[in-house]
Amino acid sequence: MTSPWDLPDFDDHEALHLVRDAPSGLMAIIAIHSTHLGPAAGGTRFWHYAEHEAAITDALRLSRGMSYKNAMAGLAMGGGKAVILSDSMGSKTPEMIAAFAKAVDSLGGRYVTAQDVGMSAGDMVAISKGTRFVSGLPPKQGEAGGDPGPTTAMGVFLGVKAAVRRALGRDDLSGVHIAIQGVGSVGGGLARHAAAAGARITLADKNGEHANALAAQIGAQVVSADAIMAVEADVFSPCALGAILTEPSIADLRVAVVAGGANNQLATPADGDRLQARGILYAPDYVINAGGIINVALEYLGGGDRAAVDAKVAQIPDRLVAVWDGSEATGENPARVADAMAQKLIGRS
Ligand code: NAD
Repeated sequence: MTSPWDLPDFDDHEALHLVRDAPSGLMAIIAIHSTHLGPAAGGTRFWHYAEHEAAITDALRLSRGMSYKNAMAGLAMGGGKAVILSDSMGSKTPEMIAAFAKAVDSLGGRYVTAQDVGMSAGDMVAISKGTRFVSGLPPKQGEAGGDPGPTTAMGVFLGVKAAVRRALGRDDLSGVHIAIQGVGSVGGGLARHAAAAGARITLADKNGEHANALAAQIGAQVVSADAIMAVEADVFSPCALGAILTEPSIADLRVAVVAGGANNQLATPADGDRLQARGILYAPDYVINAGGIINVALEYLGGGDRAAVDAKVAQIPDRLVAVWDGSEATGENPARVADAMAQKLIGRS
């Protein structure tokens, strides 16, 4: 196995913790990319990886993404991420979660966890029994916090609207065709908001039953998970997993805009150039999907109510516009422009 320092996604991460608790069977990775702006904040992913190295790579990439996301969202938080390695059955036990909470606690607040793919709001409550360095707990009435998904979905919806305005010159989504990959917490929320705004929705989800049920509710079309990236539409919105924008998949796209909530959408930095070369407007993932972290950060940092969260989420389109303006001015693709802006904010340029 390649040493973590030599992995392509190692980016001067401050720390990489490999966690093992034999009695519960827990295997987890906690990656701390940067604490320059504050405690390293980012969710925990529960996922089955074919190889351990893939889990480390995911933690490295996702934690760097959180540094950039938190910085671009204007939060006093650094970037980190945890992954819990699931077996192929997805077995998650209370003992495993308790051991994970203990591991988070042992870092003394350098890492603050929250919910990500495969983890539930209930898991966050369970984690809070073992550490206070957790966010995404059930909110008190009117306060920030709770499941970040709906807030992420709102930010993505606002970002899609901004991208449509930029690329198509349209001020509303009426009749705009959006193809959504993955309709879980984020993609499902986006689908509902966009349908309510008059958009035409085509969606796909690996969970066909879930896709069909949502489509029936909002009047959307369903295609297979294999077909969604080649649907002819105005917008392709990746809201499932990362690394889906590759040389072949970009060649197949038939849209003017790629804007969605999934983390780490570009398989490689060159894929941002490929989108640009095809004249497709790209909304950098960590800028458009910052709604959830804004929600959990304001909960963790304190003093935030729903109105404060909504006001910060409403700034996401302005940040995207700043990135697209930078791209136009420099000729660099939007992903590279956003990275450069974020690196400056975390003191790395
Ligand atoms: P989720 O688990 O609720 O939903 C993901 C959905 O994608 C599921 O319905 C799943 O069946 C589907 N899916 C998985 N692989 C697929 C494929 N190949 N094709 C089609 N559908 C597929 O997760 P979520 O919270 O909605 O998160 C989605 C993405 O957004 C992830 O990349 C996550 O990291 C990112 N994200 C989430 C948040 C948040 O607040 N939840 C915040 C920022 C980023």
